Amino acid sequence: MTIIDGKALADKMAIALKAKVNQLKSAGVTPGLVVILVGENPASQVYVRNKERRATSAGFNSEVIRLAVDTSQADLLALIEQLNQDAKWHGILVQLPLPAHISEEKILLAIDPDKDVDGFHPTNMGRLWSGNPVMIPSTPAGIMVMLAEYGVDLVGKTALVIGRSNIVGKPMAQMLLDQHATVTIAHSRTKDLPALAKQADVLIVAIGRGNFVTADFVKPGAVVVDVGMNRDESGKLIGDVKFDEVAPIASLITPVPGGVGPMTITMLMEQTYEAAKRTLAD
Ligand code: NAP
Repeated sequence: MTIIDGKALADKMAIALKAKVNQLKSAGVTPGLVVILVGENPASQVYVRNKERRATSAGFNSEVIRLAVDTSQADLLALIEQLNQDAKWHGILVQLPLPAHISEEKILLAIDPDKDVDGFHPTNMGRLWSGNPVMIPSTPAGIMVMLAEYGVDLVGKTALVIGRSNIVGKPMAQMLLDQHATVTIAHSRTKDLPALAKQADVLIVAIGRGNFVTADFVKPGAVVVDVGMNRDESGKLIGDVKFDEVAPIASLITPVPGGVGPMTITMLMEQTYEAAKRTLAD
């Protein structure tokens, strides 16, 4: 069994990204990532700070626009339109969740799909599902990079994705399909999940329930990717997979923390860089 080291891969990619950014700068383009944070959700503040730090250290133009919790939807839409028009920004990210009086759907629709670095705009979802990915959700994108890095050949493999969210499960399934895996998506209404999971060569778990996947879900030799981020009773970060029990059965497994998480922010930076690079071709 090998433990996939997402942190080490993210660190390696960060170094390579700096070099790519320097080259792009010498061609006259500095990647720009702007993040909008509405309100003071403590978890969102941490996420946003991390994104800003990573963007700055990659050599990007980086800005966080912090708005009061009572900012109107109209004002937020006007700001997004202004950022859409500003050539300095190649990636625009609105940190979710938004306060209840603002429609997430309307806000996500307002972002120029070519600057939608989260890949949540329906245009980008459609591009992904029609085999022409441009901006794609970072978490599954990072998982695909990890699987490639560890030499996982997906062609003809059976893959089960547990979870069907728009940000993880669904795009994950499409990316695996694109690499010629035979993909099943499971969810809370799936019958006899352990038996179904036990058939999978590749098991991706994105549920949000600590230690849910135990040894009896896992085929010997399977590749197991744990997307979950949960807190146990003592506040410790744990995944959706019961690591100690599953690791001895798996051929490859991601830990929590240090697996999927570090790659998510890495892919956000990579995609901002790619968007900036595309402007050279315009
Ligand atoms: P979500 O929107 O809440 O979706 C959870 C999915 O899991 C749903 O499709 C749900 O099924 C399914 N599910 C829930 N209980 C289940 C059960 N008992 N059996 C089978 N399926 C079940 O969550 P998400 O945004 O995809 O996130 C999932 C987890 O990944 C969370 O822990 C989140 O914190 C973590 N996450 C981590 C990263 C990272 O960078 N590491 C990024 C994003 C998310 P239904 O559709 O039937 O309700």
